[in-house]
Amino acid sequence: MKETLNIKWPKDLKRTKSREIVLTLLQDSHSPLSAIEIFSELEKKGESIWPSTVYRVLDAFVEKGLVTKTAVLNNEITLYDLNHSGHKHYAVCVGCHKIITMENCPMDDFKPKFRNDDLEVLGHKVEVYGYCNKCKD
Ligand SMILES: [Zn+2]
Ligand SMILES: [Zn+2]
Repeated sequence: MKETLNIKWPKDLKRTKSREIVLTLLQDSHSPLSAIEIFSELEKKGESIWPSTVYRVLDAFVEKGLVTKTAVLNNEITLYDLNHSGHKHYAVCVGCHKIITMENCPMDDFKPKFRNDDLEVLGHKVEVYGYCNKCKD
């Protein structure tokens, strides 16, 4: 494994070849990827890995907090991204399903009010969609 990996490998997660190649791919990617994209990227690189293995690896990563899972486009697509510090939001092009990472959190000033402190807010989801530059015209 390259030492450039800036993500700490959890102590209780066994290093396997398929886990390492999936993690490396996620790290080299500049945008979150769906499981299908991960699979086809690995296939392009000549790695022999089953789609079911990709899902299993991703599930293990999500469980260990290494990777975050975000559903977009009415839950039609699930995206996987390395768990960078802080959370991220994504916008989706409804034309080509390209994922565009938002540079800010539009909810930064969002302070929902509840009667009697009915809820302690842990997080939020934001869904933004539109047409990317390619699909606009
Ligand atoms: Zn598009
Ligand atoms: Zn946010």
